[in-house]
Amino acid sequence: MSNAQPLTELSADEIAAFRQEQQAAYDTLKSSGLGLNLTRGKPSAQQLDLSNDLLHLPTSYVDASGTDTRNYGGLQGISQLREIFAELLWVEPEQLVAGGNASLTMMRDVLYYLTLFGGVDSPRPWAQEEKVRFICPVPGYDRHHTLLESLGIEMVTVPMTPDGPDADAVAKLVADDPTIKGIWVVPTYSNPAGAVCTQEVAATLASMPTAAPDFKILWDNAYAFHHLTKDEAKSADILSLASAAGNPDRPIVFASTSKITFAGAGVGFLAASVAQVKWYLGHLGNGSIGPDKVNQQRHAEFFGDAEGVRAHMRKHRDIIAPKFAEVQRILRERLGGKGIATWTDPIGGYFVSLDVLPGTASRVVQLAKEAGVALTPAGASYPYGNDPEDTNIRLAPTFPVLEEVTTAMDAVATCVLLAAAEKLSA
Ligand code: PLP
Repeated sequence: MSNAQPLTELSADEIAAFRQEQQAAYDTLKSSGLGLNLTRGKPSAQQLDLSNDLLHLPTSYVDASGTDTRNYGGLQGISQLREIFAELLWVEPEQLVAGGNASLTMMRDVLYYLTLFGGVDSPRPWAQEEKVRFICPVPGYDRHHTLLESLGIEMVTVPMTPDGPDADAVAKLVADDPTIKGIWVVPTYSNPAGAVCTQEVAATLASMPTAAPDFKILWDNAYAFHHLTKDEAKSADILSLASAAGNPDRPIVFASTSKITFAGAGVGFLAASVAQVKWYLGHLGNGSIGPDKVNQQRHAEFFGDAEGVRAHMRKHRDIIAPKFAEVQRILRERLGGKGIATWTDPIGGYFVSLDVLPGTASRVVQLAKEAGVALTPAGASYPYGNDPEDTNIRLAPTFPVLEEVTTAMDAVATCVLLAAAEKLSA
């Protein structure tokens, strides 16, 4: 049997023989006692080591404007760090807030404020609406979904295409339905599909008529600078596009240094129109007198300028690109041409999105678990954990060392083949 022959073209006898072969390979795999994990979309220790100089900074606790960073105050974050990230995110420093260690907390706060108080353009708080719905491009980031679910916000899915969310589907949904109040977009190297939102898609989202007057684009640019190749995707400038279209308060942009410096001790950012930044800070101020400015000062000294961030990201790239290349090699060599799987080949971000034969993703995850390889639960990238086709698996190769990526991916390929053989022979 040629390696490139699609399994779907095999006769019943051939499939039975193939299944036996795969079962034997799986039994060998299972007896090898692996203990590997491909679930964690987090930086490896080697990546974290790139930022260890932070542990000896700052050298001065007085920031560029003379503020003592050890003290209370400065709710918007120190200007020196905001200037660096304003340049990287193409916003003005007054449009940018530097916060604590998690942009996810800022996203949660924004949704809480919208629910409890309404936004700058809301007729009333979202909690007083009969129903609030949100568009989620799928596959997407599980915490976006669980956050909405925690607030009782219903989720409506649209396909994530290689160019970003299916903009025509989105425009159609929002045109006449005032219950649809927003959309999540991970514009650059999306989690998990690695999609990059094109200028055209961004322009449609920024300008499309919406029945809800306070429609929000939550533009989560968590992987804005996380390139895997020299072909560095540029994020669309959603704030300028929306502003030019007469919707300056529609987008709220998020980013962070979680996967630039320390995932647990970085700095989160929020960017929006000046009016919306004022709205955000107004509510934030009820619960904080200021962020951890010492950490912000440390980051400002560490990077120096925007080019310092770009140079630092190239060091990350050198560490993780070989792991992504290994994932591609194994998928190609083991599953290529078999007609049972497709996968993304991202040029940035933290994930590879693997689509297996419909109805077999959960089985693959179960087989992998029993063989000692932890995979993200099937369906995790869909609202309510429900992948209707049971086809998608998110692979996260950054955390394990290269040799572990090789072993784990070989195991995954064996499980995909066995699950497909089981299904086709059933
Ligand atoms: N947004 C996306 C799309 C992510 O994948 C992640 C982490 O995996 C986050 C946000 C979390 O960001 P932060 O660490 O800044 O809270």
